[in-house]
Amino acid sequence: MKSQELRSKFLSFFESKQHQIVPSAPMVMKNDPTLLFTNAGMNQFKEYFLGNANPKHTRLTDSQKCLRVSGKHNDLEEVGKDTYHHTMFEMLGNWSIGDYFKDEAIAWAWEFFVDILKIDKDNLYVTIFEGDKNDGLEKDQEAYDLWKRHISEDRILLGNKKDNFWEMGDQGPCGPASEIHIDIRSDEEKAKVSGKDLVNEDHPQVVEVWNLVFMQYNRMANGSLKDLPAKHIDTGMGFERLAMVMQGKQSNYDTDVFMPIIKEIETITNSVYGPSEEVDIAIRVIADHLRAVSFAIADGQLPSNNGAGYVIRRILRRAIRYGFTFLNIKEPFIYKLVNVLSDQMGEAFPELKKQSQLCENVIKEEENSFMKTLEQGLSLLEQMIESTKGQEMSGKKAFELYDTFGFPIDLTALILEEKGMSLNHKEFEVELQKQKDRSRSAAEASTEDWVVLREDDVEEFIGYDHLETDVKITKYRKVKSKKDGELFQLVFNLTPFYPEGGGQIGDKGYLEESNGNVVHIIDTKKENNLIIHLTKNLPQNIEGVFKAIVNEDLRNKAAANHTATHLLHQALRRILGDHVEQKGSLVHDQYLRFDFAHFGKVTEDELKEIEKFVNARIYEQINLDERRNVPFDDAIKEGATALFGEKYGDTVRMIQFGESVELCGGTHVSNTSDIWHFKILSESAVASGIRRIEAITRDAAKDYFTEKTQQFDAIKKLLNNAKDPEKSVKDLQAENNKLKKQIDQLLSEKAGNIKGDLKAKIKEVNGIHFLAEKVDLDANAIKDVAFQLGGEVENLFLVLASDQKGKALMSCYISKDLVKEKELNAGQIIRDLGKYIQGGGGGQPFFATAGGKNPEGIAQALAEAEKYMTS
Ligand code: ATP
Ligand code: MG
Repeated sequence: MKSQELRSKFLSFFESKQHQIVPSAPMVMKNDPTLLFTNAGMNQFKEYFLGNANPKHTRLTDSQKCLRVSGKHNDLEEVGKDTYHHTMFEMLGNWSIGDYFKDEAIAWAWEFFVDILKIDKDNLYVTIFEGDKNDGLEKDQEAYDLWKRHISEDRILLGNKKDNFWEMGDQGPCGPASEIHIDIRSDEEKAKVSGKDLVNEDHPQVVEVWNLVFMQYNRMANGSLKDLPAKHIDTGMGFERLAMVMQGKQSNYDTDVFMPIIKEIETITNSVYGPSEEVDIAIRVIADHLRAVSFAIADGQLPSNNGAGYVIRRILRRAIRYGFTFLNIKEPFIYKLVNVLSDQMGEAFPELKKQSQLCENVIKEEENSFMKTLEQGLSLLEQMIESTKGQEMSGKKAFELYDTFGFPIDLTALILEEKGMSLNHKEFEVELQKQKDRSRSAAEASTEDWVVLREDDVEEFIGYDHLETDVKITKYRKVKSKKDGELFQLVFNLTPFYPEGGGQIGDKGYLEESNGNVVHIIDTKKENNLIIHLTKNLPQNIEGVFKAIVNEDLRNKAAANHTATHLLHQALRRILGDHVEQKGSLVHDQYLRFDFAHFGKVTEDELKEIEKFVNARIYEQINLDERRNVPFDDAIKEGATALFGEKYGDTVRMIQFGESVELCGGTHVSNTSDIWHFKILSESAVASGIRRIEAITRDAAKDYFTEKTQQFDAIKKLLNNAKDPEKSVKDLQAENNKLKKQIDQLLSEKAGNIKGDLKAKIKEVNGIHFLAEKVDLDANAIKDVAFQLGGEVENLFLVLASDQKGKALMSCYISKDLVKEKELNAGQIIRDLGKYIQGGGGGQPFFATAGGKNPEGIAQALAEAEKYMTS
């Protein structure tokens, strides 16, 4: 069965059980501070399990793109070495949000496997939670009894807390899990060892395929468990593992999900998959990482130096490094695989197909720059090896190479091994741990349980229409972190505060208590769909009614920048072309930033045109046309563009200013004239094929022009109020150039004269032409004179020194013949003489220079120079 078909079989099966099929959420997280990437199907439904939002459908199913490379689930180092863990994989899942529970979840999983897919039940094992004393939990008898109806009891195994108890995080929903494992070994092997003994033992052919989680508890901050008011089902099945089973393969990589990519790798790198374990691992790593990196880029996450971008960069570098070492590929090649991937997955994931060119560009550039890093690292490593005494290289040094150059540690170890040396791994681990501890303690935070004051329905946002309203606090909690200190998070029954999102910063403002006390709201954020107001202290009467007041000035400035961002987007598409795609934005009250896909630099003329276009829309005084709750498909039909990597609900908000139509949750001006004026400050590159424009509006633009005018006036004054300041500056520049040339000429004449004088002073000592003399020349002129004399006088040994504004300069020139004959070394001599001027220097055997801070010592240094003639 083709994998495409398998995916749709799963979805339609659960559709037949009244599940709503929903799209995969983006793989790159935007709205959850605890996660960088989606690592399980349930992530996008967290807000429902936490009770922060009510779902339209209580039964859901999808295929979710997941990435397990950081945090709680990190499979990165294993990937490629085994045949069934990937960095990026698809998780098929079905969910019940307070709807059905264990009975149906178990029955349907079984029905899908045995009745629909016709998987032989003699190859299946299931596990259930054995209980845990510390948590006061009994064995999950309920699940055991339900399984007993489908499978013989000797195939129901007990699992411990690690494998069979799932938790959302340190706090929050959790519960026992039940896994389905499959044994795909040959009959012969099964006869030797029972599959039962291999479950959860990391055997590549006895693997877990499906995990059914029964969410029934809530973990509190003190570690205790409470019953959840509503019980939920969350299941996850590895799509690639299921494909392996259904296609009768022994490895995920042998399925049609990976084979086309592997074939292409074989062709491009001229290697063969199969015979050599080392080569096979490299090929698997590259095939896997290609997917992870391409999907991330298509979701808007470019490789970078920090956060999620850095994780993506490291994945790609791991692939490059495996190609470099084991396939012997020393130039970019991974980008050439994007096409095959997009042909194969582009139908299920159109974002990949649409952006394959961008993926190629970005990957190629990353490959190029990492190749350079590898070359640099290799030569640094050479130096380190040379300076290493003994056979073992210090782990500290290796860590330096790893940390500052991103040079892979296993490559260091490998190269050392090839040279018959070893690496002090322990020392390296110690350094690595130190670094981890540093970043952990910087990120350390503690969160207390919510204190619930009122049971309330979902918190309502009214900030599009109001900047001020009466509110009550429904719940609050204390959070502590190194970065922000102690803060309180408040949740209201309704709020006018816009939470940070869609690139726009969160509102600031204050709460006013009935007694006049004011509590400042320093920021507003959204977490799992909950709007959270941050304060440094709690109100005096926490149960009271408050006036919640948004800082209107900051909000208006941010709104002007947000609307300007839309107009800029429109201008870019109009002037540069339809290929322009938004790749990120920041809407601040001070400025705006807009990143977009475009192949080259935006020229100055184009920038002017873009500015002009936006300002024309501002002067046209276009009214905002805002429509809420428009069905997503209708909005798209009306010409709104959805952004890749963004999650949209069934209905969306449309923001229209004339011909600019966008799906947007941000706040906007009511008329474009409120923007006043739009001014671009800079245009630059963020990555290959991604440009960035920074611009300002309103007060910031006004201030900008005021400041520029003042500067201009000051310059004019310096130019004696010249009528045409530009011409005056040009005249000054021309005159300056003329003077420079004259000075150069005078200096060279002076040097010529000095050279003549010096030549006359040269004396002969033991067949060597010797001179040590103080001159009034700068370093360059000294060098010129020394080389000129060297060309005119044979067997020359020359030391020249100069006092330049209190600094001592000294140079030593020795004819090459002398260097050989008398074994003289200018570098060594200049270092010796450098002592007298309190300085250091160096160079080559025939010419070297030194600088020092003691010009008084020049005379002595010159006197000492003659010593070298006689010794
Ligand atoms: P394993 O023990 O094999 O690592 P897990 O316990 O981490 O699996 P879950 O977190 O329960 O897995 O995820 C649900 C399902 O997703 C698993 O049953 C498996 O089929 C699949 N899965 C998990 N991790 C990966 C991965 N790295 N690559 C491919 N599939 C995976
Ligand atoms: Mg795992």
